[in-house]
Amino acid sequence: TFNIFDFSKTVGRNMQMPFMATSLLKKNNLLQIVDYHKFLQFIVQIYNKYKRSVEYHNDLHGSDVAQHCNLILQRQNLIEYARFSDTDVLALLVAALCHDVQHDGFNNRYHVVTKSPINQMYGDEHVQENFHAAQTIKLLDIYDYDFLANMFSASEIKTIRKRMVESILSTDMAQMKQLRDDFQLHLNQFGIQDTVNRELLIDTTDDETIEDSKQLVSSCVLHACDISTSLRDFDISTQWADLLFDEFFNQGDMEKAQNLEVSIMCDRTTTNIAGGQAGFI
Ligand code: 5GP
Ligand code: MN
Repeated sequence: TFNIFDFSKTVGRNMQMPFMATSLLKKNNLLQIVDYHKFLQFIVQIYNKYKRSVEYHNDLHGSDVAQHCNLILQRQNLIEYARFSDTDVLALLVAALCHDVQHDGFNNRYHVVTKSPINQMYGDEHVQENFHAAQTIKLLDIYDYDFLANMFSASEIKTIRKRMVESILSTDMAQMKQLRDDFQLHLNQFGIQDTVNRELLIDTTDDETIEDSKQLVSSCVLHACDISTSLRDFDISTQWADLLFDEFFNQGDMEKAQNLEVSIMCDRTTTNIAGGQAGFI
C-alpha cells in the first residue's frame, strides 16, 4: 500500500504536498478546471502553515488523508454513486489536504482548559476545526492563492467553499457519533446496504437534498480517512501510532507541568500504546 513516509523521502519533504496535490488533481482530471498557478501557490502556503515540529498533525498527515480520500472515491466508485461532479471531488481533496492546517499538537480539550487564544476566538466548540477551516478560507481570500476565482460561477465558488468548511468541521472527533447517526439514518431511509440501492446514496428530491447528501458523503469520507491509519500495512500503521502518541505524551507532560488533569492516553508513564490502539479500533 501507499507509504507517505517513503513518498516524502523520495520527492523531498518540502515538495511532498505540492506533488501530492498535483497528482491527486491530475488523476481526477481537475488540473484544467482550477487556476493551477494559484493552486500551487495556495498549496505551498498550506504546507508552510503545517508545523513540521508537530509529530503527527503535520503536512504528512494532511497529504496522507487526502491520498486516502482519493482511494475511497475510486475504490467505492463514489464519483458514480454519490454523483460527484468535478467540483465535489475538488472540494473534498482540498479539504483533506488542509483539514489540520496549523495544528499545534494539542487537542481541543487542552485549548478549552487553558483558555488558549484559539479557544477565545472560536469558543468551546470545535475549537481547532474552526481554526483550520478559517485558516484555509483566509488563504483562499488572498488574490494570489484564490485558485477558484474566474474559473467558476459565484454560486459554484460558494458551494465549494462551504463544502470545504463543513467537511473540515466534521473532522472533530466530538462529532463522530452525530455523523455516524446521520449517515446510518440516511442509509436506513433509502434502504442502502453494501451494494444494494447504492445509487440512492444521493437524495435527488431537490437541490437542497442533493447538497445535503453530498455534504454527508464528503464529511463521512474525510472523517473515515482521518482515523484510518490502523488500516494500513502494519509498519506504516505503527509509525503513525508512535507519532500520535509522541504528540499525546508531549501534551501530557505539558499538562503535568501546568498542574492540569492529564488527558486520556496522554500520560507517558501509564499509557499502553498497543492496548490503546486495540481499543481505538
Ligand atoms: P484530527 O485531529 O486528525 O483531525 O482527528 C483525528 C483524531 O482522532 C486524532 O487527533 C486522534 O485523537 C484520533 N485518532 C486518529 N487516529 C487514531 C489512532 O490510531 N489511535 C488513537 N488512539 N486515536 C486516533
Ligand atoms: Mn486529521
